[in-house]
Amino acid sequence: MTSADILVAARDLAADVVADRRDIHRHPELKFQEHRTAALVAERLERLGIEVTTGVGKTGVVGLLRGARPGKTVLLRADMDALPIEEQSDIEYRSENPGVMHACGHDGHTAMLLGVARLLGDLRSELPGCVKFMFQPGEEGGAGALRMIEQGLLDNPTVDAAFALHVDALHYAGEVALRVGPTMAAVDDFTIQVRGKGGHAARPHLAVDPVVVAAYIVTALQTIVSREVDPMDQAVVTVGSLVSGTTFNVIPDTATLKGTVRTYNLELRGHLERRIGELVAGVAAGMRATAEVQYFPGYPPLMNHESGIDLVREAVTELLGADAVVPKEQVMGAEDFSYVLQRVPGAMFHLGVRDRSWPEPRPIHSSSFDMNEAALPVGVAAMAATALRFLGG
Ligand code: ZN
Repeated sequence: MTSADILVAARDLAADVVADRRDIHRHPELKFQEHRTAALVAERLERLGIEVTTGVGKTGVVGLLRGARPGKTVLLRADMDALPIEEQSDIEYRSENPGVMHACGHDGHTAMLLGVARLLGDLRSELPGCVKFMFQPGEEGGAGALRMIEQGLLDNPTVDAAFALHVDALHYAGEVALRVGPTMAAVDDFTIQVRGKGGHAARPHLAVDPVVVAAYIVTALQTIVSREVDPMDQAVVTVGSLVSGTTFNVIPDTATLKGTVRTYNLELRGHLERRIGELVAGVAAGMRATAEVQYFPGYPPLMNHESGIDLVREAVTELLGADAVVPKEQVMGAEDFSYVLQRVPGAMFHLGVRDRSWPEPRPIHSSSFDMNEAALPVGVAAMAATALRFLGG
């Protein structure tokens, strides 16, 4: 099948992919609750005669398309979960699930991969090797990809390469953004429990005020990146939550802080974990309080393999021309496809979804996120062409 044929096939599927995306958008489900979405995916794959395994990593679905000829195995991935966000939109297909929204484009990812399954399913008789379709749960903080890997995702048959796409709100529909190497950050979370001594607000000298200690801790944490990290290295330390006390005139006993750390460099990652612990203990001790830090290591950085990006670049250039390929900027957001790319070569590429008429991008993880659906057949074609190029079809 030529690139031109793939593009025509993807455009023929566009109306169905859009319909699926809108259906899934209307019925968003939070991580590990993707029951309706997983059932829809499984039903579609089965109808295509693809071998289906459900309940992988709780609510994940794996489809295996066996080509008629022997060959390698390529994995293609979509994520299915939505976010706890109330959609602010008057689009006709807006979320019918209050407080839950597909604000990261996973509805589009799932619909596009179903389109890819149809496109490649039609080529079964000439296809060398296998295509494994990974529909994962819990990308948003649930490490659903890791759960699926632990349940054998990459075995039987062994996966030789893996590819995923993610919508990109900054780039325009029709563009594919690529970057070799570190592309998305490692993410760790922490909780700090400050313990002081409660009392009457009018007698502070008899208490140890955890609110003031917590405030100093927030300030002190700002110095780690600004004063201890090489300015050429990327790092973020953000305190996203500070909870203490209930009323005007009582000094509470405790304060709780929650935050996140983003890095690329594994050595720096370890350094920040250690320094947060030391700094918090020092500030608390200096102010007669105690503090306990709990540190939760999260997703590793997403590292795109050069061979994988080269393959996507060749496929997209042949499909759409060299102008469609644009450089992807590094971001401090995270992505659990990194667990897959730690184990097999491949790449995640970013699919522009911004409409040229929007004066501002509509960013992911915001209540106003939306995509220009003209990007959907581009994603289907790019994914299918990449898989075929890898398998040598
Ligand atoms: Zn996402």
